[in-house]
Amino acid sequence: MSRKDFSEIGHTGGKATFTVKYDRNGHISYRIGYSHSSPTPMSLVGIYAHPDGFACGNIKMGGIGQPWNPPPFPNCIAVLMASDSHGKFGHECPECHKHFRTDNIPAAFPLTCPYYGLRAESYHYLTPPQKSYISHYVGLLSEGCEDVSLDSTSEIVIDMNAVADAVSDKPRPDFYYTSTTQQTEFRCTECNSYNDIRGRYGFCASCGCKNTAESQRKALDEVRDQLVKGVISPMDTVKKAVSEFDSAARDYVGQFISQVPMKESRRNQLEQLLFHNLDKFDEIMKPFFGINLLKGMDADRSFIRKMFFRRHVYEHDGGVATARYVRESGDQDIEEGTLIRETAENAHKLIGHLNRMIKTLDTEFNEIFPPEPFCIQIEKDRQSRIKKNDA
Ligand SMILES: [Zn+2]
Ligand SMILES: [Zn+2]
Repeated sequence: MSRKDFSEIGHTGGKATFTVKYDRNGHISYRIGYSHSSPTPMSLVGIYAHPDGFACGNIKMGGIGQPWNPPPFPNCIAVLMASDSHGKFGHECPECHKHFRTDNIPAAFPLTCPYYGLRAESYHYLTPPQKSYISHYVGLLSEGCEDVSLDSTSEIVIDMNAVADAVSDKPRPDFYYTSTTQQTEFRCTECNSYNDIRGRYGFCASCGCKNTAESQRKALDEVRDQLVKGVISPMDTVKKAVSEFDSAARDYVGQFISQVPMKESRRNQLEQLLFHNLDKFDEIMKPFFGINLLKGMDADRSFIRKMFFRRHVYEHDGGVATARYVRESGDQDIEEGTLIRETAENAHKLIGHLNRMIKTLDTEFNEIFPPEPFCIQIEKDRQSRIKKNDA
């Protein structure tokens, strides 16, 4: 099913309720609750808000009977926030201000910005309307505590259903927060968390692994499939495969450029790097970052080099071997002026090698920018439970 980029997803609805009690001895207490009756999915999270109305911590809402973590300041107010109508939450990175969606505002682990990797507690990623909701909630509750009379109980409700239903004719109050679809949805291969990001490549917001290598693998699976079905030629397969590799490699290197402090000359070299120039790419990645792209693949080096040169000939020279190709590609079997007849076997082999190279780049990248282990461990435990049950 295709969905539209950047379209609004409504709030899941429901009612936040405060029951404020002013007892005979002049003591005020309140209880909070959230009820939801519509058939849409809902997740509920808790945020600690400062009495001045801003978020200041996450609430670890454990199972029934488990106490919550204490608030970061005394007199903090526990705010209950429901998801969008798909059970997801929108986030805005406090640094780059770009949006993304996940299935949680987690309290047990930090969020990672999918775009530039900033990692911080998740309440820092609230969107402006989510922040308005929090200050509205805190405001209503403190008014309620002032208005309740001695020896009585009063109930205050924020009705998100009523606000959602009112959208058609009236402008919505600014505390009605929604979320916005982005462009690429993926489940992280390491932690299985849901992500929805702008563009195509990004960090998983939950564990901080990149989706880039997996994205290339999937794209190349499709290319391979088209080759097998005879939809595209081996020559076009090589072109597409190398272009996929080029953009995936550029994504990793782009992260190095933006996150690793470096001299301008080094930055320029990286920015101008053409990733299908294997010798140059390899020459730069080793001394700059200690990354060996061809780890365990020394025997395949000349084949990959040759195929990268061929891709250039397919792209720019109509598939006819140029003098430069003959001189530099290391291909002994082709004379200048000959039309290169690409084979399906070569194309398949190249795809395998490109996937292995991008996987190496990904693994080495994670050594420099280590992922957050919490969600990965949870997923590992889940997988081993499934295996046990199947056994
Ligand atoms: Zn960011
Ligand atoms: Zn993940």
